[in-house]
Amino acid sequence: CGIVGFTGSNNYQSAPVLLKGLQKLEYRGYDSAGLYVSDETTGTDQLVKENGRVSELAKLVASKDVKGSAGIAHTRWATHGVPSVDNAHPHKSGDGRFYLVHNGVIENYAELKQTYLAGVHFESDTDTEVAVQMIDKFVKEGATTIDALKKLIGLMDENSAYGFLLMDREEPERMYVAKQKSPLLIGIGADFNVVTSDAVAMLDQTHDFIELHDGEIAIVDPDNVQLFDQTGASVTRDIFHLDIDA
Ligand code: GLU
Repeated sequence: CGIVGFTGSNNYQSAPVLLKGLQKLEYRGYDSAGLYVSDETTGTDQLVKENGRVSELAKLVASKDVKGSAGIAHTRWATHGVPSVDNAHPHKSGDGRFYLVHNGVIENYAELKQTYLAGVHFESDTDTEVAVQMIDKFVKEGATTIDALKKLIGLMDENSAYGFLLMDREEPERMYVAKQKSPLLIGIGADFNVVTSDAVAMLDQTHDFIELHDGEIAIVDPDNVQLFDQTGASVTRDIFHLDIDA
């Protein structure tokens, strides 16, 4: 339903920014929420998910030591699998390397699961977990993370909708972004960058945004944003300034 992501230089803490962003997305409605935060300096990471309100997730986050300058977060409106902690996003791949939040629906997820993931253990009933397990499988077969994401995108039924925000434990400051029929914006800061499904959630951080178009992929680092089209060619896009108050 709602997505936010943040990656900043090492003096930033992403969790408070993500929780505040999720709170701004509450008006859209949701049944559960979660976040994943990684800390490049210590090599640690945390996945925290909770049923119900963002304030409940915030309590759980406060009770743990969630530290790190990069992270992704989600409010879920269940389409596949009941509202529950297991079905809340982010979803992770089996060995905990990849973390994915997703807005939308992968129409052919059951078929993809059957074809590509026979024998794989699943922790949720979501279409989203199929996507993150497929990325992990393609990387284990030798693909780079971006090529695995591209391959997944090519295999999803064209009626599918997705806003994806992916993190790879081996690149703790980087976010991979992709979208089709679901809104996603990249927000530009001085020494950080953000991703959001709704500008409102990140206006505290920035008013400068780049629009991602259907079928495109972006790589977002604390000090750099790269856009690519379906063929992998790099794309240049102007930043637009959103002149409204938070
Ligand atoms: N289809 C996904 C799920 O049910 C994402 C739903 C959403 O957009 O929140 O978990």
